[in-house]
Amino acid sequence: MKKHNFYAGPSILSEYTIKNTADAVINFAGTGLSLMEISHRSKEFTAVIEEAQALVKELLEVPDGYSVLFLGGGASLQFCMVPYNLLNKKAAYLETGTWAVNAIKEARLFGEVDVVASSKEANFSYIPKGYTVPDDADYFHFTSNNTIYGTEMRFDPDVKVPLVADMSSDIFSRPIDVSKYDVIYAGAQKNLAPAGVTIVIVKESALGHVDRAIPTMLDYRTHVKKGSMFNTPPCLPIYAALQTLKYYKELGGIKEMERRDLEKAAILYDAIDSSKMFVGTAAHEDRSIMNVCFVMKEEYKDLEGAFIEYATSKGIVGIKGHRSVGGFRASIYNAMPKSSVEMLIETMKEFEKNH
Ligand code: PLP
Repeated sequence: MKKHNFYAGPSILSEYTIKNTADAVINFAGTGLSLMEISHRSKEFTAVIEEAQALVKELLEVPDGYSVLFLGGGASLQFCMVPYNLLNKKAAYLETGTWAVNAIKEARLFGEVDVVASSKEANFSYIPKGYTVPDDADYFHFTSNNTIYGTEMRFDPDVKVPLVADMSSDIFSRPIDVSKYDVIYAGAQKNLAPAGVTIVIVKESALGHVDRAIPTMLDYRTHVKKGSMFNTPPCLPIYAALQTLKYYKELGGIKEMERRDLEKAAILYDAIDSSKMFVGTAAHEDRSIMNVCFVMKEEYKDLEGAFIEYATSKGIVGIKGHRSVGGFRASIYNAMPKSSVEMLIETMKEFEKNH
């Protein structure tokens, strides 16, 4: 049976990405060697990382003066690398979910952290508004998409200090004004590649302004200087990332991805809003187009387990909500075909009719 993969991450990747990566695991670039057993300094792999960096720059229209890095350690390591490299005295953070909480915890090890607003009191079901970012902050950090709670900031905030964003779960789903940012980072395992690589876009002139010593591997300048090849990079995820980037380009680039993502999210939210049984958990104006969170209305709560079972029988996997929200979460990243979203909607409607 065809599976419809709604996992939040690691999550669905395009067939193009998976097929080409599988081929390269057997025979990479005609070398007769596996991608997993060839030097990262070989001319074949050097070409891969260089093309991937160039494609990120092209697709996101990254201006001059920025470097694209492919680092290990997950997005979680960036919670520490960002303040290590950029926080001199004070940084401002927006608290919109678990990942923001984790980022704030790390930043506090390096200096003063001003949490300008939080939606914690409402279980992170909305994005705070009307907050003020102090002009003397070294940067303002936000999480553009809150994977667990299904809220999203689909804009580049207007503040007087440089931006830093964790875009792990929505990068490549909208055009970004990169010039407003000192750092953009994203774990690859949603819209790009298998787990193991984190993409970091860093403004070179923002580096070298903190007073502390930085361990070599945690210093962005190390990786900028060496073109992201200071040490052995995660070769296989980088190769897969290149395939995804090529696929995005072939489909028409980031604007086209956004058009498709908006369309998929709209039909699913419409189905939820017109249902007598299901209800969305995120504030309407802040709804994520990547992670759609919903639960059963109070009078149907007992049926949540039965719905998961029914959906599983239809080949739908990964829709169980995160324990912090409960209910269901349909992650509909870039690689998710519209037909799978339609299948989920049809399944919800059938279940509703039968109960
Ligand atoms: N930030 C966001 C928005 C996430 O969704 C995740 C993981 O799901 C992380 C950070 C943590 O990423 P990693 O597991 O790569 O450290």
